[in-house]
Amino acid sequence: MKKVYKREFQRNDKRNLLLFGYNEHLEKASLELEITPTSNPHMRWNPSRHEWVTYSSTRKVRTSFPPKEYCPLCPGAELNFPTEIPFKNFEVAIFPNRWASFNTNDILVSIEGLDVKPSNGECEVVVYSSNHLDTIAQMPIERIELLFNAWSDRYLQLLKRDDINYVMPFENRGEECGVTLHHPHGQIYAFPFVPPVIQKEVEAFNKENFILKLMKDLENKYFVYQDENVIAAVPPFARYAYEIWIIPKRQIAGPWQFTEGEYHSFSIALQKVVKGYDSFLGRTCPYIMGLHAAPKLNDKNFHFHIEFNPPLRHDDKPKVLAGSESMAGVFIMDVLPEETALDLRKHIS
Ligand SMILES: [Zn+2]
Repeated sequence: MKKVYKREFQRNDKRNLLLFGYNEHLEKASLELEITPTSNPHMRWNPSRHEWVTYSSTRKVRTSFPPKEYCPLCPGAELNFPTEIPFKNFEVAIFPNRWASFNTNDILVSIEGLDVKPSNGECEVVVYSSNHLDTIAQMPIERIELLFNAWSDRYLQLLKRDDINYVMPFENRGEECGVTLHHPHGQIYAFPFVPPVIQKEVEAFNKENFILKLMKDLENKYFVYQDENVIAAVPPFARYAYEIWIIPKRQIAGPWQFTEGEYHSFSIALQKVVKGYDSFLGRTCPYIMGLHAAPKLNDKNFHFHIEFNPPLRHDDKPKVLAGSESMAGVFIMDVLPEETALDLRKHIS
């Protein structure tokens, strides 16, 4: 793999904008955005569900649907107004979210009768490309490899911190999934605790590696794409009609343990899945995509995987988490995973 350069550019608010690239980034910065007053989010314990809920009341003022010419993720130096990235060129850029639900302010609010904690942690924005109209479906494979490299860097750096116990890169795609900026980007949430969905997975993998146990079935029946290193499959226990997991064929804790071959295979698989979704639906497929890695860098049981949850029913109508799903946590499916695997495979393999 080509050498990856990482530049740490200190912004006017003293926080770092990270620039990852195959070319060394030496450009001088142009005008920066004004310093944003930071939010002071807090968490409250929900005793009914045994879960933390985060409250960040300044989030409602965040930038929403700017016209193309005001995209805050486009390279700022070419425009006559500042953006998040004050340069002419960049490859992959990562910076702290100005409206973070988790941050380092460590401000303790106390509310009588409630179990409250500061929402410590970090929220970062990951910009995949300087090109406003790019998506993972069109990018060169090398760029997606660079993105995986950048994700690995964030896992390695953020998991070192005492106030962070879990790191999750994710992407919401499409207005159906609440996306307010169309420039290709994802986010990274670094949580102060292991989130409940991941805690369940940790417990499952500590008991047995259910992925390796299912591997033969995935390879023969549920796959939508595979090569020698990775498999993309509709899990036999899917909760969404077009749910797909991309899974390494060997147990690894997270992308920071990828071999060069796995970086390449994962990048191809990620692009094939996104392209396949778009081709299958005949439009830009909305999805929520998240990387599920181990909470600890040296975990020996957790089996890394990427999950895609397109919020759709079998017939391309929106899947609303309604009565049974929302109120009881029981998903109702109108199609079998082995059937959708066959349909999606035609568009992906
Ligand atoms: Zn843009």
